[in-house]
Amino acid sequence: MTLQERDYQVIWHPFTQQKNRQAPVPIVKGKGTLLFDENGSTYIDAISSWWVTLHGHAHPYIAEKLYQQALQLEQVIFAGFTHEPAVALAEQLLPLLPNQFAKIFYSDNGSTSTEVALKMALQFWWNGRSIDDGQQSIVKTNQQPATSNRTKILAFNNAYHGDTFGAMSVSDRSVFTLAFHDKLFEVVFIDTPTADNIDTLIATVNQHNTAIAAFIYEPLVQGAGGIKMYDAALMDRLLAAVKQQCIICIADEVMTGFGRTGKLFASEYLTHKPDIICLSKGLTGGTMALGVTACTDAIYQAFVNDDKLKTFFHGHSFTANPLACTTALASLELLAQNNCLQTVEWITEQNQLFAAKLTTHDVQRTIKNIRVLGTILAFEIANGKDEYLNNIATIVTQKAMAQGVYIRPLGNTVYIMPPYCISADELQKVYDVVENIVVEIAH
Ligand SMILES: *Cc1c(COP(=O)(O)O)cnc(C)c1O
Repeated sequence: MTLQERDYQVIWHPFTQQKNRQAPVPIVKGKGTLLFDENGSTYIDAISSWWVTLHGHAHPYIAEKLYQQALQLEQVIFAGFTHEPAVALAEQLLPLLPNQFAKIFYSDNGSTSTEVALKMALQFWWNGRSIDDGQQSIVKTNQQPATSNRTKILAFNNAYHGDTFGAMSVSDRSVFTLAFHDKLFEVVFIDTPTADNIDTLIATVNQHNTAIAAFIYEPLVQGAGGIKMYDAALMDRLLAAVKQQCIICIADEVMTGFGRTGKLFASEYLTHKPDIICLSKGLTGGTMALGVTACTDAIYQAFVNDDKLKTFFHGHSFTANPLACTTALASLELLAQNNCLQTVEWITEQNQLFAAKLTTHDVQRTIKNIRVLGTILAFEIANGKDEYLNNIATIVTQKAMAQGVYIRPLGNTVYIMPPYCISADELQKVYDVVENIVVEIAH
């Protein structure tokens, strides 16, 4: 039996309708930006394998560090024990983050990092804290749990924060969540800010003011919702209003983190900083699953209490897995050493040039909404409805792979998000293939 046939017998793939499914491509090797299939064909991984890969596949430096750590300590329970990789990673990460964060809480992936953030924010209020009173507890007695009216979450329409129930609740009510709508908790949804709606959005925030515990947002780019971008200055006006109502701000930088948007974190484009930040995807350079939720001291202090009921009762078997933390440390080293952010700048410039070139197709109305933020470039193919289930995605992927490039549109939204090790020739090839496909589809 071939690998594909064996796969068909035993595997259920994510985000994939199993009926009449395309046989998955067996990948036997990765090197730099390239994926090698079992027939020896190569594909430039132009979407960083679902937005995770930073320095390239099978990076020898990360692999070596991983091997050494595996011989030393592969895993240990993280309640009552600690280890060098977890502490060193927190020490190195905290000064890089876009605010004065005090503590790092580890989990397993992007969805768990947002679950942790939401639970932290809700329990912060339950524990009887107010965001602006620092050390002082509003509730003086420890006899019974403090109560707070702040139980709602504010989130953006079109958001994506993961696939577990809390993460789904704060995500857009879309085809992804349709089967579970009656199980999802109450959320106040607002649109991302535009010049036209900003006053209405601020009015909504003020209207719900003391009912809202936290605001969760993907800063400047909504990823899985269709690589939708919005304006930093308008977002700052919204965040100012949110902060004025003492609402906890949670930046979900699971996708935008580690340089994707041209800065190390997208929150750096904003004046108003988050109280909690969620990271995963690029955290380990794309090598291993790891999630981080970082919080400010004001959040943390709400949990430091003689009352054991105020403990943060959350953890995973593999919390702070030493191997995952080690790959994250190695990735951070590579981010700093190889002038990685300069490469990011170069990709940004190339993206802008390519976007300018694409505008001729925009004028001919074969594509629309060409947009760039840092290493991310996206546009819609003007073909059918703007939605995830648009069949053009499969056609685009097939056409691109036939030419040695891997892209995976979100419905009719075509985008690229390459690893930072991409060469000038490879990047040009990606652009050429994308443009060829646009031309082909137009005819
Ligand atoms: C991918 C993503 C998540 C979920 O991360 P997983 O590791 O897939 O669970 C959460 N938030 C954002 C913004 C993401 O892009």
